[in-house]
Amino acid sequence: MGSDTAVSNSNAVAPNDLSAFWMPFTSNRQFKQSPRMLVGAKDMHYTTSDGRQVLDGTAGLWCVNAGHARPKIVEAIAKQAAELDYAPAFQMGHPKAFELANRIVDIAPEGLDHVLFTNSGSESVETALKVALAYHRVKGEGARSRLIGRERAYHGVNFGGISVGGIVTNRKMFGSLLGGVDHMPHTHNLAKNAYSKGVPEYGTELADELERIVTLHDASTIAAVIVEPVAGSTGVLIPPMGYLKRLREITKKHGILLIFDEVITGFGRLGTPFGADYYGVTPDIMVTAKGLTNGIIPMGAVLVSAEIHDTFMQGPEHMIEFFHGYTYSGNPMASAAGLATLETYKEEGLLTRGAEMAPIFQDALHSLKGEPHVIDIRNIGLVGAVELDPIAGAPTKRAFSAFLKCYEDGVLVRTTGDIIAMSPPLIISESQIGELIDGVRTALRSID
Ligand code: PLP
Repeated sequence: MGSDTAVSNSNAVAPNDLSAFWMPFTSNRQFKQSPRMLVGAKDMHYTTSDGRQVLDGTAGLWCVNAGHARPKIVEAIAKQAAELDYAPAFQMGHPKAFELANRIVDIAPEGLDHVLFTNSGSESVETALKVALAYHRVKGEGARSRLIGRERAYHGVNFGGISVGGIVTNRKMFGSLLGGVDHMPHTHNLAKNAYSKGVPEYGTELADELERIVTLHDASTIAAVIVEPVAGSTGVLIPPMGYLKRLREITKKHGILLIFDEVITGFGRLGTPFGADYYGVTPDIMVTAKGLTNGIIPMGAVLVSAEIHDTFMQGPEHMIEFFHGYTYSGNPMASAAGLATLETYKEEGLLTRGAEMAPIFQDALHSLKGEPHVIDIRNIGLVGAVELDPIAGAPTKRAFSAFLKCYEDGVLVRTTGDIIAMSPPLIISESQIGELIDGVRTALRSID
């Protein structure tokens, strides 16, 4: 339904009919009573509809790694729109998609040599799971159809992703989901790892749960294991150093593919180009999105090993090798944005800047120890979390109150459950880190 009272596209005037847009992952009724409207963004700041500047402590939704409205990226998109707005990628091509795939491979861990393009993290996850299932079939091992995820994992919102994901609220409304899925435990342990700085010590042995699952189902029925190197959306759950290595050893031993979902950890978030680099472990398939285009145009990329790619490149050459793809796979506008984004990361050293800033961020973040309600603090690269003691009978309320207070005071953080998460753009300065953490400190002291 339209409305004649709505809607100005002028930045100065907030729309006054908010009913049509059913907002994602939002308490719609509450939001629409007192909306938080963003109307502009530049570098580290958002501008609100009431003209305030808000420090972006979350890189939008973990995606604006180079900061907002970077001129090189903005110009590349404008130029591309005028030059070639859209071209199909089915049986057709345009140069920038091929160029972007090459640039991604250049910065990816060695051995991940081929790229499938998507439009989001969720689509990248589905694509990765389908590649894994099809790979085993092409090899004549079609019995390998089981997928293994983890508890407290977030792999987007499509059916494959919520099936291998481990968040009850995202799963329980949607029936029985994909069959043949099992879950390993997550590695987060408050009793053993509270207030860890960087990677915690406890939890490597939890990788051996995979052996238990293999024993239960037999390796010949398992296609792939999917994990986030660091689970972001569920509260920054950081595995210990040996954990992913151990998963790699077990998957290799049993012929199971290992998929890293690097939608958050990709493109410099941990202070290395990818989480795989941080942990020194190369998966068979890597899922990316978000930071690939600095969030400016939706795009994802799935990287696969030469072995996987070459397995599909058999049979008559006129045949399509993999029946999968999207209308917007490798879209020219997104490709232009991706190329300009990767150039910006390179010119400004942003894929490793997180490592330089991590000690400053860590000290500032851990200075919140002892503040009201805080029961844990954890960090890695330029991502951190402060876990709060939940209010009895009202889980999530305390962290959400802190979020609201931060926003009122000019600092954007994100909450999941009773955890406050921070993942600022990788261009953040030392004084802005101080401002972000002080904003959280003030909020913690002011909420019940
Ligand atoms: N995978 C991970 C690890 C994510 O954190 C996210 C989003 O936060 C997704 C997948 C889904 O990405 P999108 O929201 O672009 O579909």
